[in-house]
Amino acid sequence: MKNKIQTTNPYNNKVLEEYNLHSEKEVANCLEIATNCFNTWKHTAISKRTLLLNTLGDILNENKEKYSRLMTLEIGKPITQSRAEIEKCISLCDFYEANAEEFLADEMIETEAEESFISYDPLGTILAVMPWNYPFWQVLRFAIPTLTAGNTALLKHASNVTGCAIAIQELFEKAGYPKGCFQTLLVNHETIESVIAHESVKAVSLTGSEKAGKSIAQTAGKYLKKCVLELGGNNACIILDDADLDKYMDTIVNARMQNSGQSCIAAKRFIVTEGIHNDFVKRFKSKIEALHYDNPINEATTIATLAREDLADDLQRQVDDAISKGAEVIIGNTRNKSYFEATLLTNANQEMAVFKEETFGPVAPIFKVRNLDEALELAGNSKFGLGTMLFSEDIETASKKVIDINDGAFFINELVKSDPRLPFGGTKTSGYGRELSQEGIREFINTKTVYINK
Ligand code: NAP
Repeated sequence: MKNKIQTTNPYNNKVLEEYNLHSEKEVANCLEIATNCFNTWKHTAISKRTLLLNTLGDILNENKEKYSRLMTLEIGKPITQSRAEIEKCISLCDFYEANAEEFLADEMIETEAEESFISYDPLGTILAVMPWNYPFWQVLRFAIPTLTAGNTALLKHASNVTGCAIAIQELFEKAGYPKGCFQTLLVNHETIESVIAHESVKAVSLTGSEKAGKSIAQTAGKYLKKCVLELGGNNACIILDDADLDKYMDTIVNARMQNSGQSCIAAKRFIVTEGIHNDFVKRFKSKIEALHYDNPINEATTIATLAREDLADDLQRQVDDAISKGAEVIIGNTRNKSYFEATLLTNANQEMAVFKEETFGPVAPIFKVRNLDEALELAGNSKFGLGTMLFSEDIETASKKVIDINDGAFFINELVKSDPRLPFGGTKTSGYGRELSQEGIREFINTKTVYINK
């Protein structure tokens, strides 16, 4: 079994660093420290916990360049987008600093008792298994509410972002979180089962693929541990004849191309009514031509290589499949190692892998339909359920469709995005549970009934 992890810059294939995996003894030690820390951390006043968020935000701000550079080197994210990710993490600190105390306050409920209320208590140590595509955001989106609620956390990050995983543990330590509150485990898949099985680990949060979700959920089920799953998506982006393309074309293209197309909530199926179809294709093509591919560390770069070569292999297979079933390449489809050119496909249909599977890269297939009903039927015909977006000037009609969207999110004239103030999560094979907002901070909580007669 391999006992080392290597990180590589996907832009030039240069090895960045090599890390030793934690031994069994080291993992046991981390679990013990996390357990001990929980016993004091849960008694720390919530006002003290929220104060630490302020320091955490300051440290993120002071180290923005360092952290952004690290993400860009490890996954090839354009540097300006790495900075935006750190800024989003800071806004998350600000949000829970301002609101956590209210979200976790006892809730008085009138009954026959002298006093009865709900107490929102922490659970213990929570394991997070996280993906590489937003290396700081995904982890902090889990950790900030989870720790602020009084839990301790263990992170198993994706192996290609081990540098970020270590930097995040240091970030919490620098901010003054007690030893053991947040720890990074450098472990392989096999070790994860024993961590989930450990009595101090009360729940698991996984953000990742459907395959990883099934495996982690099975293990969590075996040991009866709670599980939150944030999995893949295949979001539909519906463009109706009356969409205002002058106003929203940048948003629509960004919905697919941001993070070089590697986002769970990206627009992955463009469902376009026939009256606007040709104009839409023309505009999409010219926006793709305006994207700037280069070394992700350069300021002007807007699209870069994918994070790993095997991701480009997958994308190539999906595009080849589409072409073999009648899709037309309007622009793109050039491949070199981890690089996959931004690609626009027309004549796409439901038989293609680009419809059925998640495409994790800058490929935009366009499906032509006659009207809104047909568009909604196509959009809903997916095993995934993260979100749907719809672009139209007829807000009244669009708003009436809320009940027909079986996803975790429905955005009208906006790309599906996460926001600390709003719950985030999916349905169907996109997972279950919610992150962010009040719902997120209450996921790893014992909602305890307290009933007092005097
Ligand atoms: P992945 O291959 O599923 O990996 C995610 C994490 O799970 C990594 O830390 C990985 O570790 C670990 N892992 C995978 N299989 C495991 C197993 N059997 N046991 C224990 N750990 C396991 O996904 P990814 O390629 O990193 O990320 C892309 C996927 O994540 C896409 O499907 C994307 O849509 C989804 N995603 C979803 C959300 C959301 O909020 N819904 C957000 C971002 C990404 P290793 O790196 O060591 O393999």
